[in-house]
Amino acid sequence: MSEFTSRDLIIQASYLLASVFFILGLRSLTRPNDARLGMQQAAMGMLLAVIGTMLNAHILTYQWILIGLVVGAIVGYPMAMKVPMTAMPQFIAFSHAFGAIAATLVGVVEYGHGGSGGEGGTVTAMSHGQAAALGLEVLFGALTVTGSFMAFGKLQELITGRPITFKGQNAVNLTLIGVAFVSLGLLIANPANATAFYVLLGLAFFLGISMVLPIGGGDMPVVISLLNSYAGLAASATGFAIGNNVLIIAGALEGAGGFILSLMMSKAMNRSFGNIIFGAFGAAPAAGALIKGAAKEPKTISPEDAAVQLAYASSVVIVPGYGMAVAQAQHVCRELHELVQKKGGEVKYAIHPVAGRMPGHLNVILSEAGIDYGALLTDVDDANRVLLTADVAVIIGANDIVNPDAEEDKSSPLYGMPIFRPWTAKAVFVIKRGKGTGFSGVENPLFTRDNTLMLYGDAKGVLGSLVKEIKALDEGH
Ligand code: NAP
Repeated sequence: MSEFTSRDLIIQASYLLASVFFILGLRSLTRPNDARLGMQQAAMGMLLAVIGTMLNAHILTYQWILIGLVVGAIVGYPMAMKVPMTAMPQFIAFSHAFGAIAATLVGVVEYGHGGSGGEGGTVTAMSHGQAAALGLEVLFGALTVTGSFMAFGKLQELITGRPITFKGQNAVNLTLIGVAFVSLGLLIANPANATAFYVLLGLAFFLGISMVLPIGGGDMPVVISLLNSYAGLAASATGFAIGNNVLIIAGALEGAGGFILSLMMSKAMNRSFGNIIFGAFGAAPAAGALIKGAAKEPKTISPEDAAVQLAYASSVVIVPGYGMAVAQAQHVCRELHELVQKKGGEVKYAIHPVAGRMPGHLNVILSEAGIDYGALLTDVDDANRVLLTADVAVIIGANDIVNPDAEEDKSSPLYGMPIFRPWTAKAVFVIKRGKGTGFSGVENPLFTRDNTLMLYGDAKGVLGSLVKEIKALDEGH
């Protein structure tokens, strides 16, 4: 048995502390006001884990590690600084792919070394437990690599965001999953069975592609958080394979976190997991769906008239959606908010759990604009209660989350998704550029309801005009 040195003690202590910081970080991230602190705590945890790893006595030369750090920082830092908030889901997918490449490579190298943590053992000497850990590592790792690149390609529109389906696809995928698990079983039974290991690896790469192909771009954020969970499991398995505690803990946290997030997102969309993975949501909607409501033209209102109504409203509920994020209209929205408040009106924000393109998307951009968290109604039922007595509901670049078909039309793909009911307010103003559909690609009959008035244009521009008109009202008095 090797001796436990003081260097080992420092390494294990840094890993323990890193794990505590990861857990504290996750805890802080659950409260919007502490989210920034949460990121700092998590980053501190990562720094401690890296420092601990650098002290490992098995490191022979630091040259390549340093080169990797420098290249990673040069590529990663500007990418993270430049990427717009709306492109965050594909950016996350992209970075998951790299994490998963690392886990897969470690798995392959470890298998070659006989699962000895890099000390040059032989495959025949590998235990069944180590074989299981390495098998799971390459299965989840390789699947995450190709799956994440596919998700990135779909969201970045490098490949079509529509589901790519063929007859018998689910059966093919289930068979491939079955063969992968048989290979894993053979590997565990006989760790020296290299064929089983490499078949498993190859199948996992292929599964990442074939499982993401039939899923529409709209469901990609759920898929990304599921892949995040797989990357966590791969990291955890790596931890078991090379005897690294911080990898086991951090991987388990990521695995559980990603899974819970996927479940929460599917629940907020009222979709089952099975429906997302096998349902090909986002396929071209039935012909009838698109022409629905086409006979009736939406009514419009001028910014001047809308400004008058807003200036004299005592209760305004703003429903922001993806379009607000695209237009980066949050700052001018705050200006409008302050003007209405100055005029004596109360302003609240109805924030839907799946508004935008990632969980918390609108919370983040509104808090970036300095809007008080107390003004946000994050529970759909609470927001609907406030809408009942509101004078004006202002929909800014939102569509699916205010589609009445989700409650009224059983044939709608959105049916069952909890939605806001802005039409219960006295007047509804909808700010959007034209007749574009939302993420689900279906028409929205809200736009042709009696009390709905459209303010066509880019969200930032329209809100700017409203601000100007309300200010002009003041000057006119
Ligand atoms: P949405 O249904 O995608 O609608 C966004 C609307 O914004 C579009 O109809 C578009 O209409 C308008 N728009 C786009 N750019 C604009 C601009 N510059 N100025 C003004 N308007 C603009 O958005 P949502 O209501 O936020 O709903 C989110 C959807 O994403 C839901 O279907 C949800 O299930 C899905 N989703 C969300 C998540 C998540 O985690 N948040 C995850 C997966 C899926 P025009 O083209 O006419 O302007």
